[in-house]
This record gives sequence, C-alpha cells and structure tokens, in this order.
Amino acid sequence: MSAGATIPQAQWRRPARRRVTAIRDRLRDVYGVPIMAPHEQPLDELILTVLSQSTNDRNRDVAYERLRERFGSWEAVLHAPVEEVEEAIRPGGISKVKSERIQAILRAIDADDRVPPTAPDRLDLAWLKDAPVPEGQAYLTSLPGVGRKTAACVLLFAYGLHDVPVDTHVSRVGMRLHLLRPGAPFEELHDAMLALTPPGEELELHVNLLRHGRRTCHARRPACPSCVLRRTCPSRQA
Ligand code: SF4
Repeated sequence: MSAGATIPQAQWRRPARRRVTAIRDRLRDVYGVPIMAPHEQPLDELILTVLSQSTNDRNRDVAYERLRERFGSWEAVLHAPVEEVEEAIRPGGISKVKSERIQAILRAIDADDRVPPTAPDRLDLAWLKDAPVPEGQAYLTSLPGVGRKTAACVLLFAYGLHDVPVDTHVSRVGMRLHLLRPGAPFEELHDAMLALTPPGEELELHVNLLRHGRRTCHARRPACPSCVLRRTCPSRQA
C-alpha cells in the first residue's frame, strides 16, 4: 500500500482545523506529548542530519560519534583530508558522498560573510536563532545538498523555530490521512505541513506522525484494524 492515489492540486481541499486537532489529540492519547528542549547546536544538527541519509539512527549515531572523536571540532573536519572524514563516517553508509557533502557545507558556511572574518568561530550559525524563519530556510537550503527536511531539522531541533521536518514516515502518514495532498512534491509537503501546524506544536506533530508511521501505519502493511485513526482515515483498509 502506497501513500494513496495522487490527488490533483485543483481537486485538493486543505484539512479543516478541527480535523487536524482531532488527529493530534488521538495521537497524543497514544504517544503523549514529546518533550525535547532546543539544544542550540545548529551545526551539530545539520551534520547529524546529513549523516542520517539512507541509514538507520544507530549507524548515523556511530558515524557521528566517530567523526566527533577523531576531529574534535568542525573546523578540523573542514580542513582534514576528505579520505579521513570518509573513513571516520564509514559506518553511516555512502561515506564518500557524505564526506564530500559535509566538507562542501562547512566550506560554504566558512565563506559566508554573516560571521566576521576575525570571529573566533567562523562556523557559527547562531544567527539563525533570531533570523526570520524564511531567511533561515533560504540560507540552509542554499548549502550544498541541503533540502527542506534538513533545514527544518536544524531550525526546529536546535532552536524550536516554526518549521516541521517532513520525512518518509510523516509524508506517508500525512498523505494517507489527507492532511497532506497525496502525490504532492516535497516542497509542497513542507509548506502544507507548516500551514496546518499551530505554533508550538511543530515537535509534537512531527514526532507523533513519525511514531505512528513506524509503529502502525507501516509503508507496506499498515495495521489499519488496530489504528486509532481508522475512523477518520480515508485510506484505511478493512
Ligand atoms: S487507518 Fe491508520 S494505519 Fe491505516 S492507513 Fe490510515 S493512518 Fe495508516
């Protein structure tokens, strides 16, 4: 079972506020309200998210820890031979692509003139905290290989800003529930997710839709008969 048949833009109706709230409440009953204070480490989050591509959380974390242990600072990663970076992150998979991408991102941040050349840390992204969200999104997605999901992870997890990462689970569950338009491109999914998420509920909606995708609304065989959302779900199976 996929995320459902594509619905053309012209036929799409955004979900009513009341329905979004009802879904949020049912998910809250099952999974609770996630609590995770913003950690204020935007560059750590950015690199961690790059490492998470095409692997599981465990391998991502092993790769991240090895990178931190071996180099100690992002400055050192920037100036290291790319083969050494690649070797450090090998447990995370596609390490050649990721090592080149990480260094390209660090080079781009280092070259940005928001941070004065004399600053002790040229790789400082702390300005994102007080910048308007669209400015932060535009900057982050201008970095090599960084898309809306990665940008949203940085803005939400580092600073609690109004952005919502739409990963494979969130997009699948959101489309099956018709919170998001089935068949919509990723850019539209992120805009739609932001539009239906009240400020302050970004983390909760992201985490609980993701949990529901992992535990119940599986990609191949969603457990519809035991799903707490089956009554409101237009994609439920018998
Ligand atoms: S009823 Fe639940 S498990 Fe089934 S498709 Fe809908 S959200 Fe997914």
